[in-house]
Amino acid sequence: MSEKTTDFDMIIVGAGFAGLYMLHKMRGLGYKAHVVEKGTDVGGTWYWNRYPGARCDIESLDYSYQFDEDLQQEWEWSERYATQPEILKYLRHVADRFDLRKDIDFETTVKAAHFDEGSGKWNIKTDKGDFTARYCVMATGCLSSPNIPDFKGQDSFKGDVYHTGYWPHEGVDFTGKRVGIIGTGSSAIQSIPLIAEQAAHLYVFQRTPNFSVPAHNGQIDAARIANVKSHYKEYRAQNKTRLAGFGEDGKYQEMSIFDVPAEEVQAELDRRWAVGGLQFGGGFADTLFDKKANDIAAEYVRGKIRETVKDPKTAELLCPDSVLGCKRMCVDTNYYDTYNRDNVTLVDVSGSGVQELTEKGLIAAGDEYELDAVVFATGFDAMTGSLNRIDIQGIGGAKLKDKWSEGPKAYLGLMIAGFPNLFTVTGPGSPSVLTNMVPTIEQHVEFIADAIEHLKKAQKTTIDADPEAQDAWVAQVRGIADMTLLPTCNSWYQGANIPGKPRVFMPYLGFPSYIEKCEEVVAKDYEGFKVG
Ligand code: NAP
Repeated sequence: MSEKTTDFDMIIVGAGFAGLYMLHKMRGLGYKAHVVEKGTDVGGTWYWNRYPGARCDIESLDYSYQFDEDLQQEWEWSERYATQPEILKYLRHVADRFDLRKDIDFETTVKAAHFDEGSGKWNIKTDKGDFTARYCVMATGCLSSPNIPDFKGQDSFKGDVYHTGYWPHEGVDFTGKRVGIIGTGSSAIQSIPLIAEQAAHLYVFQRTPNFSVPAHNGQIDAARIANVKSHYKEYRAQNKTRLAGFGEDGKYQEMSIFDVPAEEVQAELDRRWAVGGLQFGGGFADTLFDKKANDIAAEYVRGKIRETVKDPKTAELLCPDSVLGCKRMCVDTNYYDTYNRDNVTLVDVSGSGVQELTEKGLIAAGDEYELDAVVFATGFDAMTGSLNRIDIQGIGGAKLKDKWSEGPKAYLGLMIAGFPNLFTVTGPGSPSVLTNMVPTIEQHVEFIADAIEHLKKAQKTTIDADPEAQDAWVAQVRGIADMTLLPTCNSWYQGANIPGKPRVFMPYLGFPSYIEKCEEVVAKDYEGFKVG
């Protein structure tokens, strides 16, 4: 432990974007808060995900804190989409600038958090010692528990094995190596072009193709930086009015694609493709709601894939037959073009999957591939994985894992009924992964801090979610998702990537309506919460 004190007002688990701001916020309000972090440094997701090409697919001017005007004015992003090293540098800067490290225990893993009804406090066990705290905040991230499929013969492979979410800090040199990568999600799509440049040969084992749009990354135009910084506050406020918390206002966004003349639809899709990035999917009002409307945008991307990839068979394999956006879209630099290289082979494992790892490589689709290294780009046990890895027990010793055995339930994605004074930042039921995460995190942190201040003023000591309000919220989250095409494919949004995980659509769609709901809850004296 960095200090002898082990009793705090608040213990925060995780030193990523959420944990750092939570600490800063609570300290500013005069609370004794302390962070426990497994890594050797701050950064969270951006500490662990160091694979080649790792960068954020939300623009840097948006994917950054807004809580401090001087910070957002002074920090200079170099590229439209920041690389992992640059985001990590930013978070290290934030930690230093606000002197946060002195209140963080690094290389410390939280094993358990149990609510003690007698003291009204949380007992938090780590591998280095124990803490008590009135409040416990799980700032553990939504995509921080890597999914490592249990392939037959997993340990028999004699070569090197990596997971994109646990990448070695010293980097990996694939020069002259035969590399196999399993998966074609965002992490794979970013790393494949760079691994292909180094490797002697790269085999991509694809179970399901994904839609990817070009990043058109580059240095940010100085005029754009100046413009945003001249009215950053208003710019951020405007983003909060957008469905995903970022984006641009498009001419046709309020219109059905069928109400726009075909040549204008084509021109708009061309324009959005030329701009690049996730905003491609937001051109028309019905893309995410109407399959036929979605087909138009999806077919446009398939056309681009066929135009880019020279081998028609490979191009067809890369064309998803699903709905555009029902799995999170990817943003790439030279992804499809990489399949034109002689040293890259796409292997379709949609039928039998990757069957087995062997001493020399792996067996997929009936053939053995001899490899020097295997990269698991197989994603994460999203939203619930890192919480379920901790033994969390609430009132009466009830285990969170048991409570969530049929799917996670949380009120506003912030609190779980029966677990008083335990908060989750971007928990299930929060807009989290369907938004730009940083403003969502800031909104959650501010909500939590305000709730604690509310308790203090009211001379109360506990806040808990009301089970009925929680059920109603869970139903609302699902109801909204069911109005869209989002639940139509096997996405991690609904736990489908993890064998045995209950299929429940977890994130809430709609940042503006979420903010409105939170404001209404506060205005109605914390409606849906039990304060005592
Ligand atoms: P992911 O999207 O879940 O992709 C995992 C890939 O591994 C999928 O192609 C999946 O195939 C495949 N896979 C999983 N288990 C498999 C198995 N047993 N056999 C064969 N293939 C298997 O994970 P990710 O790429 O790490 O991305 C996760 C999320 O993190 C993203 O959606 C995004 O939200 C975030 N992320 C963001 C960025 C960014 O900002 N640029 C970068 C990376 C990640 P199936 O589709 O068939 O399941």
